[in-house]
Amino acid sequence: MDLSDLYKEAGIDREVYEYGEKAESRLKDRFDRIDKLAELNQIKVIQAMRKERVSYDCLNGTTGYGYGDVGRDTLEKVYADVFHGEDALVRPQITCGTHAIALALFSNLRPGDTFVSIAGKPYDTLDDVIGLNPCKGSLAEYGVKYRQADLKPDSSFDFDAIRSAIDDTTKVVEIQRSKGYATRKSFSVDEIGEAIHFVKSIKPDALVFVDNCYGEFVEDKEPLEVGADFMAGSLIKNPGGGLAPIGGYIVGKEECIENAANRLTSPGLGREVGASLEAMRSFYQGFFLAPTVTAAAEKGAIFAAEVFEGLGYECVPKAAEDRHDIIQAVELRTPEALCAFCEGIQAASPIDSYVKPEPWDMPGYSDQVIMAAGTFVSGASIELSADGPLRKPYAAYFQGGLTYLHAKFGILMALQHMVNAGEISLK
Ligand SMILES: *Cc1c(COP(=O)(O)O)cnc(C)c1O
Repeated sequence: MDLSDLYKEAGIDREVYEYGEKAESRLKDRFDRIDKLAELNQIKVIQAMRKERVSYDCLNGTTGYGYGDVGRDTLEKVYADVFHGEDALVRPQITCGTHAIALALFSNLRPGDTFVSIAGKPYDTLDDVIGLNPCKGSLAEYGVKYRQADLKPDSSFDFDAIRSAIDDTTKVVEIQRSKGYATRKSFSVDEIGEAIHFVKSIKPDALVFVDNCYGEFVEDKEPLEVGADFMAGSLIKNPGGGLAPIGGYIVGKEECIENAANRLTSPGLGREVGASLEAMRSFYQGFFLAPTVTAAAEKGAIFAAEVFEGLGYECVPKAAEDRHDIIQAVELRTPEALCAFCEGIQAASPIDSYVKPEPWDMPGYSDQVIMAAGTFVSGASIELSADGPLRKPYAAYFQGGLTYLHAKFGILMALQHMVNAGEISLK
């Protein structure tokens, strides 16, 4: 059977398939560059594993208190090496990205301190963490104040606004690398470096924290290399390589990590407890695969932009633009198009392909959200997934794909569902 017949059998019309082939043929040079970047990051990870002498025993977990867990402690050294931190905390007890970020913030802020976000409003789930909405246990409840410097209309840092947001009480300054659910651009590591430099010139003892979700391995360097003090992310995104079933990490200055360890477990226990259970094999193997998996996801995102830009949809970033994370926003303009897009992504999934996603009131988000994900690890957005809040401009945030070929199939299916829904015509 011919490939185009197989696509046809899978429900992809000839026109959709051929449109995709043309789009793909224009991306060869781009994909070659991504492969080179993946090679660099792959060697970085292997080198760290060699340096820290990762052994087969590291893959076996511990139970109970987890004292002397060699696998866990060695993995934390590997993360610290790869991300250029003094130390790291990489744990299955960190339940997700929001938890990792909240842990990093709560542990390094004290009552009376001010927390300043200089990349506009942080990711939606941090509203409750900060206490923008009244919420039990928020930073606000603990007497931590919050200020924010919005970005300029062109998504760049507003240095005047940053200067006025920082004062003597500023303890932690946050930069979110990836756009999250906003239609701004994501920051390059160099742009983050400039902003850090500026912050430190105003207040040298402010700690700069980077929300690194979705940014890992997308460039040849990470935020700690340009002066960030600590950063955090989720293991069911890039660094878990699709294999980690749970987990989060915080990497950075020794003191920041010690603070985080003492809050994750308990003062006095700190990093010494926390059994790794059965998680270590997938943490190591996932981190090992993460550079190529991230590259696959990035190629998928570029393919999506190439396809939808060609059809007149606003894409952030544009297909030809440099990428600083694996998220592709496609502004679909109507709720119907957004839902059809997500239905297509779902239909192309290896798991739960027969399910139809519906918008719902997701905890932590203010608008209804539609999510498509048929993933091996529940909710893992390094796997092919799409989601979007039902608000203008009805942007689908597309990300992931453990293989580029699956991402490509998903995008074609998304386009097909939009064609079927009468939202677009290729004829
Ligand atoms: C995903 C994400 C988070 C939150 O991570 P969860 O694992 O969903 O809790 C925070 N910030 C950014 C930029 C993200 O992309």
